Amino acid sequence: MIQEIKDSQQPPFGGLGVQDLLIGLVNALSAVKQLSELDYQVDDERNLIRQALASLLQYQDMERCSFFIVDDEGLLTNVTGISIAENVPESPTSLEQPLQFKIGEGLIGAAAASGDLQYCQNCHEDPRFEKKLNSRQLPGSIISVPVFTLNRALIGVLNVSHPQANYFNDWHIRLLEVYKNILGQLITTRRLVQQMEQQIASRTAELESLVVETKQLKDHFASMSMHDQLTGLHNRRFFYDQVEVAIAHHKRYKSSFCLLVLDIDHFKFVNDRFGHLFGDQVLTGVADALRRQVRATDILVRFGGEEFVVIFTNTRCDNGKTFAERIRQEIKNLQWQVDNEVVKVTLSIGLYCLNADTYPAQQTPDIDQMINWADTALYQAKASGRDRLVVFGEEG
Ligand code: GH3
Ligand code: MG
Ligand code: MG
Repeated sequence: MIQEIKDSQQPPFGGLGVQDLLIGLVNALSAVKQLSELDYQVDDERNLIRQALASLLQYQDMERCSFFIVDDEGLLTNVTGISIAENVPESPTSLEQPLQFKIGEGLIGAAAASGDLQYCQNCHEDPRFEKKLNSRQLPGSIISVPVFTLNRALIGVLNVSHPQANYFNDWHIRLLEVYKNILGQLITTRRLVQQMEQQIASRTAELESLVVETKQLKDHFASMSMHDQLTGLHNRRFFYDQVEVAIAHHKRYKSSFCLLVLDIDHFKFVNDRFGHLFGDQVLTGVADALRRQVRATDILVRFGGEEFVVIFTNTRCDNGKTFAERIRQEIKNLQWQVDNEVVKVTLSIGLYCLNADTYPAQQTPDIDQMINWADTALYQAKASGRDRLVVFGEEG
């Protein structure tokens, strides 16, 4: 371009003297330096643009700068402007109904459509300005420069104006060409960072909700694997899990506990006579009654079928017998109504007492052995007529 100007014998840069040129150069470099130092991580893109315009006005003898952003429909909307006279950004109210141009419309639209800088040396004589601005608003000269992202997508159009016609020279034009490239890079970087941050935030949110869901699922399955679906009581797996704690406690504190195996008498008859669904109701009713009879620190499980196991923790044999009798009585008092018949059930209970002083800690029998002994007592209870409690070691 310098070559072109020399060839046409025009004085370069509008006939400026060397000193003016140097001052202009320093100012231009200052503006570019300030622009390149802007923090692209501002909360709002308009803010970034506004700061960019301010740095341009601060170092350059332009009267007014503005920026039009293009939207997805190809409409260019004035998002910010700044003028030397006010020396402050335009208040939001003045932008309530911002100026808009379609691509190709007016000087701004022409810059967007062509992708090249447009310079109108005398706006009052240019037909492109008739429609949108009244003559009071009309500047003398104006330059519109399209600003692009790094991959050449249009961001918008930067405008600088001055009240005088024919005001801008090649100096201004060159500066604006450099300036719009840096501004384009800044905005691109900000948009990319913003996009990445949004992606990271949404991935993080997805992951967090996945973690919560996984935990809920895990808890659900853990609880399911420890519970009996029909009665809601804990199951055999839970029993083996918890009994270790009870045995460890016994060894450490020399505490006694009582192990009960409880079995509903002639339950097969209930099923055969009144149906399996009714049998389920009875099982649930018995389970609920058992739940009411044990303390929170005791262990109660449905061991399988119509058989339940209870451990009374910290309980000596005499108390264990009393509690077991109370349970037997409680179940005996339950009744169900079906087909005009009253149905009642009884329990046979085998009890094994692990007394604190029976075994030295290291010789405590294992749990399966203790269950066997309680089962032996239960078998005895069945054999001797059912509906009774038999204590292992005290069998008749
Ligand atoms: P005993 O007095 O000797 O214990 O006789 P019983 O009939 O109770 O014993 P048996 O072992 O012969 O029968 C147990 C029955 O319990 C057989 C089985 O169908 C029934 N049963 C096991 N689980 C369930 C269940 O979840 N629901 C229902 N309705 N019945 C069950
Ligand atoms: Mg049974
Ligand atoms: Mg039974």
